[in-house]
Amino acid sequence: MSVPLLDLSAQYQPLRSELLAAITRVCDSQRFILGPETESLERELAALVGVPSAIGVSSGTDALLVAMMALDIGPGDEVITPTYSFFATAGCVVRIGATPVLVDIDPQTYNLDPKAVAAAITPRTKAIIPVHLYGQCADMDEIMAMASKAGVAVIEDACQSIGATYKGRQAGAIGTTGCFSFFPSKNLGAFGDGGLVTATDETLGKRIKILRTHGGERRYYHQEVGGNFRLDELQAAVLRVKLPHLDAWTKARQTNAARYRALFTDRGLDKIDGVVLPVERSDRSHIYNQFVIRVPKRDAVKAHLQASGIGCEVYYPVPFHLQECFQHLGYAQGAFPEAEAAANNSLALPIYGELTEAQQAEVVDAIAAAS
Ligand SMILES: *Cc1c(COP(=O)(O)O)cnc(C)c1O
Repeated sequence: MSVPLLDLSAQYQPLRSELLAAITRVCDSQRFILGPETESLERELAALVGVPSAIGVSSGTDALLVAMMALDIGPGDEVITPTYSFFATAGCVVRIGATPVLVDIDPQTYNLDPKAVAAAITPRTKAIIPVHLYGQCADMDEIMAMASKAGVAVIEDACQSIGATYKGRQAGAIGTTGCFSFFPSKNLGAFGDGGLVTATDETLGKRIKILRTHGGERRYYHQEVGGNFRLDELQAAVLRVKLPHLDAWTKARQTNAARYRALFTDRGLDKIDGVVLPVERSDRSHIYNQFVIRVPKRDAVKAHLQASGIGCEVYYPVPFHLQECFQHLGYAQGAFPEAEAAANNSLALPIYGELTEAQQAEVVDAIAAAS
């Protein structure tokens, strides 16, 4: 039996006719850009996150980019981000002309370390980007307190954390803005690219909306230079079919995470030095976009799983400070030991909701055989 890292068709099959009907509805309307589907989705997601503004955009990457544009971040500004995340988090900072100031992560949660953020704030700091990696929020109280003291914005990279809560509040509702991705592998995935920006301030939300369409509120009249960062109607229609199921899908991922814990204990794997399961903080929920473990001899374990037909992946093998394109930032190897350790010993296992108990047992048995 092979176990894929992600099985999108298992989610698609039961919703197939509903999804195709939604796509047909858009095709029949011949309205593809900024129509009723996008507007409804924006309302539904604003309600879910609990914010006054939610703006559908072309991707999670563009969500980060347009959020930074709306916050007037640019050359001469510093933006603090963890060195360990998906590339877009730091890539967008460079694209906008600002300087990423990288910080190390908390080894338990893989999220940026608030103490490191405190040490990285300078008079040039314009924003902090906490990434809620793998599905669990960063230490937002500490980050918000530092940001407000320094007078800087907080851009939540919630691309992996739709529906995750922190002390009862939703990811994307705590900072100045929140950025989400609907890339197909995210917990709420489109049939292509898509994203969302949330704003806790309505004026800022309005500006993001204008920047989404070339900085013009009235067609062909431009207050400022924006871009084409639009979400299209087909993606919005697909997302609206999926959205009512998000909660159940998240619960299924959480159930699977609990099952992995029981299986690891059952097979005695939790006793092996260096095997570490995801740490859940008690004041926030984990929505398990990824289930990332640490394991000694990670590359050998990964090779064994793959040879056994079990999907697994390393998120992420190279922290930002060691990326070729960021060498000009001047960070040395060893600068961020926790991120480097995570890059060397972490491994993501299949966690999608439709995974069966037998499949999970197979994954854990294969790890046991390789360890
Ligand atoms: C997926 C992701 C992004 C980018 O989203 P896209 O929709 O792929 O552009 C940004 N940050 C993080 C943490 C992500 O996981």
